[in-house]
Amino acid sequence: MTESQEKLDEGRKDLIIGNWKMHHTHLEAIQVIQKLSYRLDLADYERVDVGVAPPFTALRSGQTVIEADRLPIHLGAQDTHFAESGAFTGEISAPMLAKLSVRFVIVGHSERREHFGEDDALVNQKAKAVLAAGMTPVVCVGETLEIRESGDTNEWVTGQVAGAIKGIEDLSKLVFAYEPIWAIGTGRTPSTDDAAGVIDVIRAALGDAGDVVRVLYGGSVNAGNIADFMAKRTIDGALVGGASLDPDSFASIVRYWV
Ligand code: PEP
Repeated sequence: MTESQEKLDEGRKDLIIGNWKMHHTHLEAIQVIQKLSYRLDLADYERVDVGVAPPFTALRSGQTVIEADRLPIHLGAQDTHFAESGAFTGEISAPMLAKLSVRFVIVGHSERREHFGEDDALVNQKAKAVLAAGMTPVVCVGETLEIRESGDTNEWVTGQVAGAIKGIEDLSKLVFAYEPIWAIGTGRTPSTDDAAGVIDVIRAALGDAGDVVRVLYGGSVNAGNIADFMAKRTIDGALVGGASLDPDSFASIVRYWV
């Protein structure tokens, strides 16, 4: 049996998501999604679930092009507020995202934790809000270089997972992304053995759900290294930042086996 077949038997189809961060206007987003779709065919989508997470301002355009062209591309958001509605100037709620056909929402990205002070309790509230609105939370966890060098990565990541899942009964609807902070946007990556080892720690922290939850790797993934990560049975896909902005580069990552 191939590794992909084993993953599928456990209900874990490969998933590769582009996180565009604060890049691409709505017009650029339309072009990138269309160009990406020209480079992918049905066999690719059968093998890999493909997602893009544009900025909020491009979600409506993304929805329009995906629906008009009937593209099997999953639309995602990069964040949400935890409340359904209310006096939270500047914020966007999960039900608002769901109305735009958003399928997944990234929560707890390290850039939100670092620049916007998000902690595990807030990540947990956001994950619950995303689930309540019928979407998939993609929960990011990962250590700083300091934590890695002090040998505390496994403990740190286990704590982040425990904080994120508190009070969530059905964990099977979550996706996790292991993103070592020192690997994001730096061109540095852990060895594939290291990444797989931490991902196994994440699975252990998920208890019985550990075998069925999809866990991605993220951090300087590109067309040259994706196949090595995907060769690890425990790694179900990738969360890709910089290399997802260009449709050629992202399509090569999605078609990593070619
Ligand atoms: C990210 O922002 O989630 C990410 C992994 O970025 P990059 O691929 O650019 O390292």
